[in-house]
Amino acid sequence: MKSSYSDAEAAIYLEKYKDYPEDLALRVYTSQLLGRESELVLHGGGNTSVKSSVKNIFGEDILVLYVKGSGWDLATIEPEGFPALDLEYLKRMRGVERLTDEEMVNQMRTHLMDASSPDPSVEALLHAYLPFKFIDHSHSDSIVILTNQKNNREIIREALGEKVAVLDFIMPGFPLGRAVYDLYTQNPDVEAIVLLNHGLFTFGDDARTSYERTIEYVDRAERYIEAKLGNAQSSNAQAVAPPRLHDVARACQLLRGALVKGGEGRPAKRFVLDVRTPEDIVAASMSPDAAEFCVSGLLTPDHVIRTKGKYLYIDGVPADDEAAAAKVQALVADYQDDYIRYFDRSVERGGVSKKRLDTLPRVFVIAGIGIVAAGSTKKDAKIAADLAEHTIRAKVKAKQIGEYAALPEQDLFDMEYWSLEQKKLGKGAPLPLQGQVALVTGGGGAMALGIGDRLLAAGAVLVLTDINGERLGKVKESLAAKQKSAEIATIVLDVTDYDAVVNAFDQVSALYGGIDILVPNAGIAHVAKIEELATDKLDQVMDVNFYGVFNLLKAGAALFARQGTRGNIVVNSSKNVFDPSPSFGAYSASKAAAHQISKIAAMELAPLGVRVNMINADAVFGNDNVSSGLWDVVGPDRMKARGLDPEGLREYYRERNLLKETVLAEHVGNAVVFFATEQTPTTGATLPVDGGIPNAFPR
Ligand code: ZN
Repeated sequence: MKSSYSDAEAAIYLEKYKDYPEDLALRVYTSQLLGRESELVLHGGGNTSVKSSVKNIFGEDILVLYVKGSGWDLATIEPEGFPALDLEYLKRMRGVERLTDEEMVNQMRTHLMDASSPDPSVEALLHAYLPFKFIDHSHSDSIVILTNQKNNREIIREALGEKVAVLDFIMPGFPLGRAVYDLYTQNPDVEAIVLLNHGLFTFGDDARTSYERTIEYVDRAERYIEAKLGNAQSSNAQAVAPPRLHDVARACQLLRGALVKGGEGRPAKRFVLDVRTPEDIVAASMSPDAAEFCVSGLLTPDHVIRTKGKYLYIDGVPADDEAAAAKVQALVADYQDDYIRYFDRSVERGGVSKKRLDTLPRVFVIAGIGIVAAGSTKKDAKIAADLAEHTIRAKVKAKQIGEYAALPEQDLFDMEYWSLEQKKLGKGAPLPLQGQVALVTGGGGAMALGIGDRLLAAGAVLVLTDINGERLGKVKESLAAKQKSAEIATIVLDVTDYDAVVNAFDQVSALYGGIDILVPNAGIAHVAKIEELATDKLDQVMDVNFYGVFNLLKAGAALFARQGTRGNIVVNSSKNVFDPSPSFGAYSASKAAAHQISKIAAMELAPLGVRVNMINADAVFGNDNVSSGLWDVVGPDRMKARGLDPEGLREYYRERNLLKETVLAEHVGNAVVFFATEQTPTTGATLPVDGGIPNAFPR
């Protein structure tokens, strides 16, 4: 590993943050340098600090500790991510006999310079007690590979040299702060401290020195490991075939079903998945050590809140769906039993009383496929997958250079159930469709904009498909701008091609784990009287409006059966099904056929717990700059027939319904969310969203 520090880049940070103290600007710079290396820190891991001074309201200089705030990531941290604490006060706290975690947090919060600052890192006291201006703390993979070894102290001495002190693992917080201080006072010449099974602390009197010491020691660790691996590395690298998309999709669907079956509460929580299939990970999944890698402990205990202490190993997925589902479900159930035993004995051993967390695994290693991670959101799943990917790679190396040894499970338990660690996950009431994946066809039009917006607001992951990639991109962009943290994917898809639909479902399953909500929404229109209706035009309309829906129902039936998670299909039908109009035969007949087959689907899919409902909307207007494919075709004709401009047409349709309401795409979106959230036991039903049109009342 090489230093990325440059005076030119440092100058850019000094200029950018010229309204802040120089110390802090440089602290932001080298913190971001650490954050850029995933080998050093991952997802909010690691922390940094600088000691400086600020003026209080009396004009007096106060010595402060700027330390990373909770919830900030080193890669993207800004000056606001460094709360300033009264340093002299923190130092006085060192003399206190005992301090509970809650009191430590309280003392830190009440000695902030700015009441609106985020909570300081739980390792803040350690930063306060080491007498250096800059301190850098990372969870480097290479350092942890050395510490998670049977004879770790010898290895660390050999690899990192004499100027490093080593401390046994201690939970972060007050005791760790004091232990590091004691260790330092006994070894005042050290440049770094390694905390076993956790990571590295380096320090210096300027930003560059402290940062470059981290790089220097990580580089030594890397070189030591490389030298040990030597030829073993090249001889072990065997080529493996990447997993097939359909195999990945199928494994994910089965896994997701097993997580729902094993979940607590009804309906059980659904998970979003994230899959990793790089060649070395697939090779590791097939190695004789794969099962051992899953249960031999974590690299650092703070992974536990994301990945749990053990991963679940699956040695293969049988070709028969039923056998495969039974196998995966049994493995998940075994994992859950094992977790309960771990919880019970840890509570007893620790003499504590805790409320057990859910028992489901979060990370799976599947032979021939790789790593699959589960989370409440795609972001959570990705974090767990990143941690697992680094862990498996580290274990492959650790095994080759010696004997891997992680922390005892009690330390892991203490971390998993530590209130300050659980706080990092941030609990709020989950959104109604959290963990659910919705696929909407016709994703490039104004209707999809409204439907997508409402599904995202309800917490669903959104997949939009359309035959027109350009329109699809526009809708995605528009939705992403409105729903900031939304997870949206797009697939160019021709819904008239059954094989393409099946492939798209596989793509979605490999990306998110499966599908819970299907919204057949693609439709086209053609204006012609029967005597002028060309057969090829009729075929075209039937292909999209009928076969497009049919293909989704057919592929959906297979997918829902395999997943076993129940599901919802909400068909965007039309008011024309009940109230057709002349010159609109192709559209009305194709929509009526789709409507009828959807009712059949409601009957056939009910045993799977899959509901099929229809929305009959009329004269839907978008309110954005994305046009509606339907209006593009029929709008000009309607306006011409009635001598109206676009605004006049909108007004005409508003006046035509009982409630005198303009029907918007969001209204259709609300109806989709109503059905998808299963607020009533309803299937095979039609919900009009048309402002009230007596001729179109369902009957
Ligand atoms: Zn740490």
